[in-house]
Amino acid sequence: MSNVMNAAVLHKPMDIEVKKVEIPTPKSDEALVKVYCIGVCGSDVHYYEHGKIGRYEVKAPIILGHELAGEVVQVGEEVTNVKVGERVAVEPGVTCGRCEYCKSGRYNLCPDVVFMATPPVDGAWSEYVAVRSDFLFKLPGTMSYEEGALLEPLSVGMHAMSRGKVTPADKVLVTGLGPIGLLAIQAAKIYGVNEIYATDVVPFRQQLAKEMGVTAVIDPSKENLKEKLDEWTGGKGIDVIIETSGNQRAVAETIKVAKRGGRIVFVGMPTATEIPIDITQLVDSELDVYGLFRYVNTYPAAIQALSSGNVNIEKVITHKFALKDIKEAVEMARQQKDVSIKIMIYPNEELAN
Ligand SMILES: [Zn+2]
Ligand SMILES: [Zn+2]
Repeated sequence: MSNVMNAAVLHKPMDIEVKKVEIPTPKSDEALVKVYCIGVCGSDVHYYEHGKIGRYEVKAPIILGHELAGEVVQVGEEVTNVKVGERVAVEPGVTCGRCEYCKSGRYNLCPDVVFMATPPVDGAWSEYVAVRSDFLFKLPGTMSYEEGALLEPLSVGMHAMSRGKVTPADKVLVTGLGPIGLLAIQAAKIYGVNEIYATDVVPFRQQLAKEMGVTAVIDPSKENLKEKLDEWTGGKGIDVIIETSGNQRAVAETIKVAKRGGRIVFVGMPTATEIPIDITQLVDSELDVYGLFRYVNTYPAAIQALSSGNVNIEKVITHKFALKDIKEAVEMARQQKDVSIKIMIYPNEELAN
């Protein structure tokens, strides 16, 4: 193995280039993973386009990408949980393990998390990546690398179910059908939910939601959501709303369409920091409202569910590109939201299909 590899480096907004960089050397508690496939996430596109998300800013060249699976090709001397040759999914946020949050099982809130593709931390739009081995999860033979890479966005949906205390008795509404919304539908199925409703304004996405097992879907800009929900549920209403669109109107509307005693999980990040909501209704309906940050302890459960279940998450992959075509891939994700959902990158060309 030579000591250089191809990686997609973002120099500044809109300026991305595949170039040779050094292959990372795994530390004693890390494994080197040969990346089979890695998704393009909304956050990657945002850094590419704007150079920052909130307080995180691209100040130096950075490698993006954090939704990946691959093969272990080298391990540090302390690593015991994975071996060379094993297929693994990578959980891309490495936490300290020592703080109050890590110790209480909410490591997604760890203040010292080192999260891939969040400046200044490099991601893995590259042939290889070194990862602390406790964030690697072996893939059963029945699971594809693509499914392994999709565990990351699926995890957001899984965590939303956990935050919303979803049980099989619940009726769930998912607003927004980007990758996170579509995978939240699959997460709801994993949680045993039978009645899953959804909204989106894009016909292509509505169609995919139907193919992915949603009970019913509407365009909330054309139909009255509250009336439809009453009709669909025989007046019973929705128990849990998973808001993934970040759309200002959709966010405000959740309060109006939730049933009394209902739960709302806010997943999508709105561009406006403040959105007026009907607080009197929230109080009067005794709603439970939850925020959500990434995910925690989701990979083992998701792998269990996917290795045996009838859940199809690969349907969200609409396009595949080799790493050398990264610019084209990111531009497609940026400009063609009506026809693309999840775009997968294949950094090792001999593995690309
Ligand atoms: Zn992501
Ligand atoms: Zn911590």
